[in-house]
Amino acid sequence: MMVCRKGSRSLCGDSGIPPLPIPDPATEDALIPLSALQHYLFCPRQCALIHVEQLWAEDGATAEGRLLHEKVDAGRPETRPGVRIARGIALRSLRLGVIGLADVVEFHHEPGRRTGRGQPFPVEYKRGKPKTHRADEVQLCAQAICLEEAFGEQVMEGALFYGVTRRRQPVSFDDELRAVTAEIATAARAMIRDMRTPPPVLTPACRRCSLETLCQPARLEKPPQIARWLAAQLRD
Ligand code: SF4
Repeated sequence: MMVCRKGSRSLCGDSGIPPLPIPDPATEDALIPLSALQHYLFCPRQCALIHVEQLWAEDGATAEGRLLHEKVDAGRPETRPGVRIARGIALRSLRLGVIGLADVVEFHHEPGRRTGRGQPFPVEYKRGKPKTHRADEVQLCAQAICLEEAFGEQVMEGALFYGVTRRRQPVSFDDELRAVTAEIATAARAMIRDMRTPPPVLTPACRRCSLETLCQPARLEKPPQIARWLAAQLRD
């Protein structure tokens, strides 16, 4: 039997969602941005440069992405047959330790539902095309978990909209994706809390990274000549 702790925002009942931890100021202060999960999956060092060292550099791709998000978030709420659309929704999850914004949350009205609000269905807008890695899915899954905590019901599906294909890609929040999301949230939170910045690892992703100039992976991955000379002198 599920037991709700006194003082928790109860999500008990038949939702199948475990009760939330009791919020406390330390937990609230330790929340990290939702975007950090995506940055961490792309490259842990990129995540640390942005969220530990507070560095940022915009290139064409990030500028396009920012403008797209600003446009989507600034849109008005809409109601269409069977669906209500809300934009720029503030979210947080105490379970994952994240806080941020959802581009779009649709509330789908299904016949026979108990609540009049509708089933939450997050939609995240991306300027590019579907990726081979799961960073976008993890970000969307984290939003779904935030919505579950806010509304006390399971959110099993959402969608990613890609600007290049101009199509929606459905995403199922299955156990595997939830486990990856929780794992990435734990790792990113620990890295940010400990203010650790990992060394660079030069990969093909560096060519697509807006922080490449600041990171200097090609130069810093190998010890500089002077360090090698010093090490050789100490060995002799
Ligand atoms: S340049 Fe490469 S190593 Fe450096 S932050 Fe970007 S992806 Fe990571």
